[in-house]
Amino acid sequence: MMITYDYLIVGAGLYGAVFAHEMTKKGRHCLVIDRRDHIAGNIYTKKWADIDVHWYGAHIFHTSNKNVWDYVNEFAEFNNFVNSPLAVYKDELYNLPFNMNTFSKMWGIRTPDEAKKIIADQIAAEKITGDAKNLEEHAISMVGRDVYEKLIKGYTEKQWGRDCSELPAFIIKRLPLRFTYDNNYFNDRYQGIPIGGYTQIVEKLLEGSHVMLGVDYRDIKEKQKSKTLDFDFKKILYTGMIDEYFDYCLGELEYRSLRFEHALLEGVENYQGNAVVNYTERQVPYTRIIEHKHFDFGKQKDTVITKEYPKSWVKGDEPYYPVNNDKNNELYQRYSELAYKEENVIFGGRLGKYRYYDMDKIIEAALECVGKEVDIQ
Ligand code: UDP
Repeated sequence: MMITYDYLIVGAGLYGAVFAHEMTKKGRHCLVIDRRDHIAGNIYTKKWADIDVHWYGAHIFHTSNKNVWDYVNEFAEFNNFVNSPLAVYKDELYNLPFNMNTFSKMWGIRTPDEAKKIIADQIAAEKITGDAKNLEEHAISMVGRDVYEKLIKGYTEKQWGRDCSELPAFIIKRLPLRFTYDNNYFNDRYQGIPIGGYTQIVEKLLEGSHVMLGVDYRDIKEKQKSKTLDFDFKKILYTGMIDEYFDYCLGELEYRSLRFEHALLEGVENYQGNAVVNYTERQVPYTRIIEHKHFDFGKQKDTVITKEYPKSWVKGDEPYYPVNNDKNNELYQRYSELAYKEENVIFGGRLGKYRYYDMDKIIEAALECVGKEVDIQ
């Protein structure tokens, strides 16, 4: 007898897993596929030398939504890690986000009034009029030229592969600016790292679903066409790239990719003294070095570090970030019109919606999607 699943969920990342969990709870039968050989998408963590390694870059859970916080805490206990990255610019070291520690180090000052005056004078010297039209104008009119040149320009341009004047301002609006001595990178009420890593969360979310790894949706489509598929499904939740789903028929959306260089440093107990150190100079090819043990206050005798190299995305690469400029957003709109017409297929997640979502927003969106699905049934 051929099995008919209620949902074929394409992508075993956080969005797909939350959806699968909620639907399984409601008695629906879900099949989750992923073309990678592991679950958890980009929040995948893996033990190496007894350290939970964030395999696809640093993931720090933060949210102001109590429901989302309570939700993730059902699946793991979170520690009290607070992200306080450092920035290295040439031979100078600064605290992030932009706060009194940063300003004091940069200008040798002590009080908020002194910092505000220097920033205001620098902004006045720029003569930017009207609303900021791009990331460069926004950054300068927020923190002035010194901070922009040393801590924003080089980092942003290598991260996104284009000039700050060609990037949308929203990218940097996630960074707080404070006139207090507070190095917390986020303003959210809740923050932490799951003790034991993120993979266990997704594992638990997927309990009760059938999971198939190393399976590409395109193969399923082919088999469906040739009637050789040995299962069936009523609906699809697709969390992959929306343009790929439609065979790029309207053209390619742009993504930013990354290359991660992981290294185990045996006998090195503490390599950089902090979980995240950003290299804000354009000439250094990586944007940051992560030392994973510090996410967990680890005391192991060795350490694992990861260098993160941004790169442009070409077919076959992992797409980590959508590039949400006007051109791509317009193209996405046209794809979303096709998506709207596509019967029995829901699009979700960072790639399905072409949005720079954080983990908490992914959970919110997945729960909302479940709500809508249940309503229409
Ligand atoms: N950013 C920056 N300097 C830094 C860190 C971040 O200018 O040292 C800017 C940059 O434009 C980056 C954005 O802030 O793309 C968001 O960076 P974050 O590290 O918060 O994002 P993630 O890559 O972790 O999603």
